[in-house]
Amino acid sequence: MSSVQIKIENLRKELNQHNHNYYVLDHPTISDYAFDMKLTELQKLEDENPQYFDVNSPTQRVGGEITKNFENVAHKNRMYSLANSYSKDDLLDWEKRLLKIIGVAQLEFTCELKYDGASINLTYENSKLKTAVTRGDGFIGDNVTPNIKTIKSIPLQIQEEFLKNFEIRGEIILPFKGFNKMNEERIANGEEPYRNPRNTASGSLKLQDSREVAKRPLDCLLYHIVTDEATYKTHFEILENARNVGFKVPKEIKLCKTIDEVFEFVNYWDKKRQELPYETDGVVVKVNSLHYQNEIGFTSKSPRWAIAYKFKAEQVTTTLNSISYQVGRTGAITPVANLEPVELAGTIVKRASLHNADQIEKLDIRVNDIVFVEKGGEIIPKIVGVDLEKRPFDSVAVQYATACPDCSIKLERKEGDAKHYCPNEYGCKTQIVGRIQHFISRKAMNIDGIGAETVELLFDAGLITNYADLYDLEIEQIIPLERMAQKSAENIINGIEASKQVPFSKVLFALGIRFCGETVSKKLAKHFKTIDSLMLADFETLKNVDEIGEKIAESIIAFFAVELNVEIVNRLKNKQLQFQLHEEDTTISNKLEGLLFVVSGVFSKFSRNELKKAIEENGGKNSGSLSKKTNYLIAGDAMGPAKKIKAEKLNIQIISEDKFIEMIG
Ligand code: AMP
Ligand code: ZN
Repeated sequence: MSSVQIKIENLRKELNQHNHNYYVLDHPTISDYAFDMKLTELQKLEDENPQYFDVNSPTQRVGGEITKNFENVAHKNRMYSLANSYSKDDLLDWEKRLLKIIGVAQLEFTCELKYDGASINLTYENSKLKTAVTRGDGFIGDNVTPNIKTIKSIPLQIQEEFLKNFEIRGEIILPFKGFNKMNEERIANGEEPYRNPRNTASGSLKLQDSREVAKRPLDCLLYHIVTDEATYKTHFEILENARNVGFKVPKEIKLCKTIDEVFEFVNYWDKKRQELPYETDGVVVKVNSLHYQNEIGFTSKSPRWAIAYKFKAEQVTTTLNSISYQVGRTGAITPVANLEPVELAGTIVKRASLHNADQIEKLDIRVNDIVFVEKGGEIIPKIVGVDLEKRPFDSVAVQYATACPDCSIKLERKEGDAKHYCPNEYGCKTQIVGRIQHFISRKAMNIDGIGAETVELLFDAGLITNYADLYDLEIEQIIPLERMAQKSAENIINGIEASKQVPFSKVLFALGIRFCGETVSKKLAKHFKTIDSLMLADFETLKNVDEIGEKIAESIIAFFAVELNVEIVNRLKNKQLQFQLHEEDTTISNKLEGLLFVVSGVFSKFSRNELKKAIEENGGKNSGSLSKKTNYLIAGDAMGPAKKIKAEKLNIQIISEDKFIEMIG
């Protein structure tokens, strides 16, 4: 092997290990920045030495491949469904049948959670990931390998002793945290939030651009292996070993010696599943011995040796008192069900989202109906049906709103849009106030002293009708307002003044251009450098910017085509807001990005506060107490022994002040 090849191989190995630490073990040992540097180095070496190209290199995970039509692939081994059960008696009956087939008095089972996502079949040949195929109809699925490779918890290559050739099956999921973050971004961009993690995960697999997939926080939980190699004797053993060589097999699996232990598992998770970071809808019970599994076999649809136990979705009935309509900052109308308050899964539910007109029509929901309300994976409870027998005889179908609930202008619905919109962008109070509220918000201009209510107060007093007006406010105008005093008015004025230092990318985000969220705004700021060149850019120029699509390009053009917007931007420019990119930033480096520190004890070179500041300036975060998420404990003199013990127990690296200085260089 040449020295370059060795270097490439070593970098690949190292990066694979870091991906595993981060995405499977949830315990990174280097910063995102350091990881990126290594990845860039590898990419460079691979570019310079194309003879060492490997489809399974960690550089292949960023995506890039576009698939217009997914290839249909026949599964070598059929992907079956699961039989369902809903009660302990169902499970007992199932056990009885199996004992009879095998002719034994007792069987061992493996219990797993039933992960709610989209199933996937990964084929490994010679320990390398070869293909990833969706379940499809069980016989034929879609080849989605380029998209799956971007999911970093899936090993592309297995280094350790395991099976050589096998299929491993799992569920592609979107954990709640990532799902909520995606939705927050969508809402901030003026886009419709996704309904639930499962559909979003399964939709992600079929995106044509694998770079888009790479951006989604997808994960893959594994639960089944098919192989001709006779290395392992039981299902539990095979899963434990799969986990040990790098697959994400959840820890929440249990080997049960008796059916009573299975019941315990079911009871436990029926309550505890609320605390899991991802959606589940039941438990899957499987005969543990692979030999017995073979003897028991399959029905035409599902294995006889496995059964799903479905948790009851928590559901209640209540009366739908009325439907109201809400306008968002972008003018989108959302119908909301006002319910007779009812307890559901530990909280009192008074409202449920109805999504849009089609949804109301589809379920034929009417005012005064008794409706079924469920809390499933969705964050907001939803109405899943109507008790038609209890429908009042004089009930009438819902007439969907035709006018904006706020400004009374006639609503519009564009071809292909699920939602109705209020077109009165510059006359509808909710939209005007919403835009200003977005402007002052933490991730945008972050104006201290003004909250959402203050914006409304200022608007109602006729002092502001757009965000440029904020910069003309005078303290004497604010003091007389309700609940205002000299001090709070000063805070407002000072906050507004301070916002003039907010960097260009945030100012751009604050403008509230549809589809221009935080990330897009950063991209635009970096590319165009000044607002003037952004305003001059035509559709083609915009579209050619990396990661800017047609939708965003159109929206930018539309924004600056409105004279009022241009006028507002010009006023802001005159007020000296930052409308060009400044390279220098308060952050010194990104070396510690993604790392969480706890600082404890007394130090010789830094004060504790200086240490904390240095952590932040280099992109890291501080926390007051140790937890599973902590990466490093910086220990000074006189640190308490309890802290040390706790850190060791949690497997947190303890480092000295000098080591830290080394880290930030
Ligand atoms: P169903 O779609 O209701 O027939 O359920 C079968 C599906 O459950 C399988 O295709 C898998 O995608 C999924 N599933 C989720 N978790 C598990 C698990 N632990 N074991 C087996 N299948 C599972
Ligand atoms: Zn309106």
